[in-house]
Amino acid sequence: MSDKTNMFKAYIDEEAEDKEVKKTDVDKIDNETIEEDKESNSFKSPDKITDDQLSNHQNLFSRSSTRVEIVEDEVHDISSSLPKYILPWHDNISYREKYTQSLIDAGYTTVELIATASSDEIFDATNIPIELVEEMIELSHNWHEFTFDTAASILEKRKDMTRVSTGCASVDHMLGGGIETKSITEFYGEFITGKTQICMQTALMTALPVELGGLDSNVVYIDTEGSFRPERIVQMAAKHKIDPELILKKIFVARAHNSDIQMKLVNNVINLAKHHEIKLLIIDSLTSNFRSEFIGKHSLVERQQKLNRHLQQLMRVADILDLAVVITNQVMSSMDEYDKTVIPVGGNILAHGSTHRIHFTKQGSGTAVRNAKLVASPSLPLSSTSFMITKYGIEDIR
Ligand code: ATP
Ligand code: MG
Repeated sequence: MSDKTNMFKAYIDEEAEDKEVKKTDVDKIDNETIEEDKESNSFKSPDKITDDQLSNHQNLFSRSSTRVEIVEDEVHDISSSLPKYILPWHDNISYREKYTQSLIDAGYTTVELIATASSDEIFDATNIPIELVEEMIELSHNWHEFTFDTAASILEKRKDMTRVSTGCASVDHMLGGGIETKSITEFYGEFITGKTQICMQTALMTALPVELGGLDSNVVYIDTEGSFRPERIVQMAAKHKIDPELILKKIFVARAHNSDIQMKLVNNVINLAKHHEIKLLIIDSLTSNFRSEFIGKHSLVERQQKLNRHLQQLMRVADILDLAVVITNQVMSSMDEYDKTVIPVGGNILAHGSTHRIHFTKQGSGTAVRNAKLVASPSLPLSSTSFMITKYGIEDIR
């Protein structure tokens, strides 16, 4: 019997002992089940399950007022199956269909995404009643294992970690050899400091063949400001003497006109990743939709809460898919009238949410030279470097 099947059995036993399960409810469900069994011969009630049935047939869990159907055929691939298998059952089948559709519409297309999400996040995105969402998350944990790893094995895995090159040696060096996967790297700065340029160039580098210093991988590019320009990537690709078509077809671009679409697109990356290896997810910029939708002090708390959920979602996708997340961010003036420095938008939420933060500034006016300063990192010394924006993209200063 597989581990997962064992888990089902354990769950069933636990449920049977659940003091809150009223006998009348269970009887009611069992009776319904028997009726259903007669009709379809496809579901078995929990107390009649044998090992054979577990491995060969469709099974049924019951709970005080809800139950969940599990199609055994799907179990081996449950982490990539639709979330309908963990939707608590309702008498009204149309509810089940409606909620399944709401989950899919909101981008919760796998059990794993539900297992690692917070109930508030799913509730906000789907409007499914919070009690159902909580139950769904609890049930999803039957398929998703939360285990510990030793520091030694994490170190071993990190040695093999893929790094994504920005295509600019000095910036890569500052980042310890390139942009880390399973992390969020944030480039923030004033307008025309090179944030979008570095995003496009990093996308190009990820798509480049290995022999040209790339990863030969696909990229997801979420453009929230309408500044993505494929022509610019064609220009940058010329430096590598490669057919730009080969690069462009590996970059999946979507325009996010608001924060809801932005969050939904991020969840959809999991689906895309079933068919395409993706090593880089870019959001340029992370904060502009949030800034334009939540205006004024009274909506600040709501904005920050949503931003926090978005960052948690990004970190989850980075972890699950082992990819690098690159975000850009705008700056605003410090509240202190004597302090002329600028600070990144997003406050403490973003400061904590980003793994590595790099501040881009212009070096003098009218020049192509830019400074990049690593201002936060859990593992690298804080340092700075400079680069130039040329027709080939972000380049080292020679
Ligand atoms: P914003 O905050 O407005 O989004 P940004 O930091 O994203 O700004 P970028 O678009 O990355 O700004 O950079 C703009 C800079 O890149 C400008 O100085 C522009 O002149 C330069 N640039 C863009 N295309 C080229 C090119 N083909 N050749 C040389 N420089 C270019
Ligand atoms: Mg930009």
